[in-house]
Amino acid sequence: MKRILSLIMVLCVAVAMLCSCENQIPEYTRTSFAFDTYVTFRIFKTDGTNTPEAICDSAIALLNDLEGKLSIEKEESEISKLNNLAATAPVKTDEQIYWLLKNCVDISNFTEGAFDITLGEISHLWGFYSDEPEKPDFDKLSSFAGKENYKKIVFDDENKTIFFKDDSFTIDLGAVGKGYALDMLKTLFAESGVVSGLVDFGGSILTVGKYNEGSWTVSVSDGTKDGIVGKITLPAALYSTSNASNRFIEYDGVKYHHIIDGKTAFPSESDVQSVTVICDSGLISDALSTAFFVMGKEKAQEFYKEYPITEFILIDKSGNTYVSDSIVNSFEAE
Ligand code: AMP
Ligand code: MG
Repeated sequence: MKRILSLIMVLCVAVAMLCSCENQIPEYTRTSFAFDTYVTFRIFKTDGTNTPEAICDSAIALLNDLEGKLSIEKEESEISKLNNLAATAPVKTDEQIYWLLKNCVDISNFTEGAFDITLGEISHLWGFYSDEPEKPDFDKLSSFAGKENYKKIVFDDENKTIFFKDDSFTIDLGAVGKGYALDMLKTLFAESGVVSGLVDFGGSILTVGKYNEGSWTVSVSDGTKDGIVGKITLPAALYSTSNASNRFIEYDGVKYHHIIDGKTAFPSESDVQSVTVICDSGLISDALSTAFFVMGKEKAQEFYKEYPITEFILIDKSGNTYVSDSIVNSFEAE
């Protein structure tokens, strides 16, 4: 039941993100399901090398293949293999996943653990992967706080093996799976001859080429139903959103959302309601949306000043909207 509820919330964000692309009729539209959410492809124009149907077939196959490697709910996935075995001996890892994990650990270091791929055990204890979740032991959870386990992953570039220095943690790529998948779809679209297209992956958005020979206008939501805060008009980009409303679990009438602060092992209590990060890399936009959520608005803005590699639209819990300097003129508040 809770899984269904979370899914409904994810869909609300997705629809909100899409609503302003209705003027031009896509040549082809297809909706599928991957990574526990809906994905919609809208192909507006191709160069004719491949049919839009064939491009979407390849895109769906790509997502299925990637999900098979990343899912922690599939026993045979690359990530499950690591989670089960890497604390006992170095595990030979699929080359693509090896480099993905290495990049993720770099981002964990860069964000001082605000983005942390080693919080799997904590999310598991909170019940986010259970159909019948039980209220966790808060004292036990607290004992997982502040461990910085991403520093305990050992990479061997020559042999492409990964080793965990102890068995107290597991990897969870839930914060970057969709963003990374969009990076792969961006490459696939370029190679397949998509001239203009859009992918809405459960609220994470990829825009390719031009819309109506111009920029794309994307509605930005604060994560609540009907919570459109404004519109952003930009050239092709990748958008990732993290918010406290789209996935949560309830114990004793209290809602606990899914974005964990590794320093406390509890859902982040930052002042951010929702943050959308925009970049030409989906991996980075997705990782930093999660990181900015955990950092809170001040630290996120300081991070942006130091590393202006992404743009952001951040809504705090009081409903104030903050837009990064380089895109402020492209944003129109609702
Ligand atoms: P997102 O919605 O992109 O912010 O990703 C949230 C998902 O990433 C959660 O559902 C967890 O699977 C995982 N996660 C939770 N907290 C963190 C964190 N601080 N860093 C990295 N992944 C996290
Ligand atoms: Mg993310």
